[in-house]
Amino acid sequence: MIRFFLVFFFLCGRFYGQHQQHVNFVESKVVIEPLPKEKAIKGTVSYTFKILSAVDSVFLDAQNIHLNEVSIDGEKTAFENNGKRLVLKKRFKKNKTYQLKIAYTTKPKQTVYFLGWDDNIRHNEQIWTQGQGKYTSHWLPSFDDMQEKVEFDVSILAEKNYEVIANGQLRSQKDSLNKTLWQYDMQKPMSSYLLAFAIGNYNKQKFISKSGVSIDNYYYPSDSLKVEPTYRYTQEIFDFLESEIGVTYPWQNYKQVPVRDFIYAGMENTGCTIFSEGYVVDSTGFVDKNYVNVNAHELAHQWFGNLVTEKDGHHHWLHEGFATYYAYMAEKKVFGNDFFYWKLWDTAQELHRMSEAGRGEALTDPKSSSLTFYEKGAWALAILRERVGEDAFQNGMKSYLTKYSFQNATIEDFLNEIKAETNTDLTEFEQSWLNSDKFPEEEAITYLKKYNESIRAFVDNEMNGNQLKNVLSGNHPHQYKIALLEKFKSTLSSEALINSAIESDLLTRQKMLQLVEDIPMESKEDIETLLGDKSYISQELALYKLWSSFSNDREKYLEVTEGVEGLPNKNVRLLWLTLAIVTESFKPESTNEYYNELVDYTDPSFSWDVRMGAFQYLAEIGLSDDALVNLIDATEHHSWQFKKYARNLTDELLQQKEYQKRIATVFKKLNQNDFRYINSKLKEE
Ligand SMILES: [Zn+2]
Repeated sequence: MIRFFLVFFFLCGRFYGQHQQHVNFVESKVVIEPLPKEKAIKGTVSYTFKILSAVDSVFLDAQNIHLNEVSIDGEKTAFENNGKRLVLKKRFKKNKTYQLKIAYTTKPKQTVYFLGWDDNIRHNEQIWTQGQGKYTSHWLPSFDDMQEKVEFDVSILAEKNYEVIANGQLRSQKDSLNKTLWQYDMQKPMSSYLLAFAIGNYNKQKFISKSGVSIDNYYYPSDSLKVEPTYRYTQEIFDFLESEIGVTYPWQNYKQVPVRDFIYAGMENTGCTIFSEGYVVDSTGFVDKNYVNVNAHELAHQWFGNLVTEKDGHHHWLHEGFATYYAYMAEKKVFGNDFFYWKLWDTAQELHRMSEAGRGEALTDPKSSSLTFYEKGAWALAILRERVGEDAFQNGMKSYLTKYSFQNATIEDFLNEIKAETNTDLTEFEQSWLNSDKFPEEEAITYLKKYNESIRAFVDNEMNGNQLKNVLSGNHPHQYKIALLEKFKSTLSSEALINSAIESDLLTRQKMLQLVEDIPMESKEDIETLLGDKSYISQELALYKLWSSFSNDREKYLEVTEGVEGLPNKNVRLLWLTLAIVTESFKPESTNEYYNELVDYTDPSFSWDVRMGAFQYLAEIGLSDDALVNLIDATEHHSWQFKKYARNLTDELLQQKEYQKRIATVFKKLNQNDFRYINSKLKEE
């Protein structure tokens, strides 16, 4: 019944858009009007492009876009539109510059997401985009090829009262009737997958970096108390990355925008990061799940990915490995050395296991998994720095970014810049860290032991029970203590486990709570104090474990924790409601109310991690018809994790005769064409 939802979903997109060698698209002006009722986009786009050698056709990617008018230099022109691509037919002359204009409408099946426009809740409406992996060409005739970089100026017409955020600098806001035209301006070119906009109800917090770049942190008006913990260290991270990377931030400004039901943790659109509202936390939640890593990771991409872009998927290390490495460096700056080395320790364990199991992957293989691109990628940079030394590493990095600014690059291009700064031969490095699918564990551990005392102690020292207790209550990094608990868990009784960790720090106590099965009577009072620990995960664990171990005190535990929401996924509240419902002696007059609240959390107006948590508990105690309707809705959700969960749960329920009947009954009242999965499932039965 206890769930942990702390997995980071970063993005890992791969692109093989076809490259047009004979054409260079330079500038673009985009004007769009999102139509929320129809979930459609109406727009015009103009492109200035130069022909490098004579051709008789030029194309743009345009997926399911209805083209109302296409003209070149003011004259209507012949075109083909096959639903994927717009091909312009004309004898284009060498060295000539052309002006293309397109008027279009589209109902994007993906890439643009409209939320909260169908319900009766005020101020929860949002529209946002996700370009990478989903293709901007679903809402704008543009380029799936990452090598086509264009200076895009986007203007958006939206109803007044909404904040409209897009790449670049806001130049003007023009009101007309009940709408406002927001005009944004970019000054440098970028790949189409980095275009983005977000529309919703937001306030913003403003910072100026040391170098004078303006940083706008957006938040919902109701979240003003969460602004500080959510965006904690933003300015330090920004200033640190600029000085560590050695190249000034390449764009006009920086914005960070949380949205509901985002597909990933965050996305580094140029100057305009969009991230999941699941990271909008209060000070207590900050301990359990915070935005710091995603904040630094997406910011690092503004150089690694946005300024210099990979040529294709073979060079994905240049994006994800680099962003992951610099994010860890930024976290080292704010959380200290132990954080950095123990983070690398953890990922080394995972990569080693994967490698030992014969599932290791090379960084140069475009089909590798996220673990390889992100974590092995970060490791490869740490080792490269170790081998060539600080100066060569930093100078090489700087010349790489300078030489390939606003262009595309390969791994070889990067290594050549490093090689120009060092006498160290990198042949073996390339072989064992980039081209091999094995993880060089020995070199990794040697590196960690060299720089971190507690890792050295952990690897080298034998330890008995007494020594363990001394370390756990002593002044050592919590990562070290947690690793020790994990190592000795099977040799310790519950009581010994609790005794050795109860006086330790918050996160070590939390680890102990996770590991302990039944709480012995002798430790009852100790564990009860953890109901008030400043961590929502600890509170959730303590409530559940105490409730399970001491049935006579269930009411007391429920009274103490009533009213705690927990993390953005409402981890404590959902558990509390479930326990309150099944504890017959606890406020029986309110049981219905608790049940209805739990069902309410499955409603589409809540973010999908809240809904998923509520479904998990309801699956144990029974789903009402309203919950079944919400489950059917979830089987078509745009987040694949949630959709997959909902479909699996539906399949399980359909195995049971009674649920099968009820699902069929509620389904009849819905617009059946909207729910293809459940439709096909019911036909099978
Ligand atoms: Zn990334």
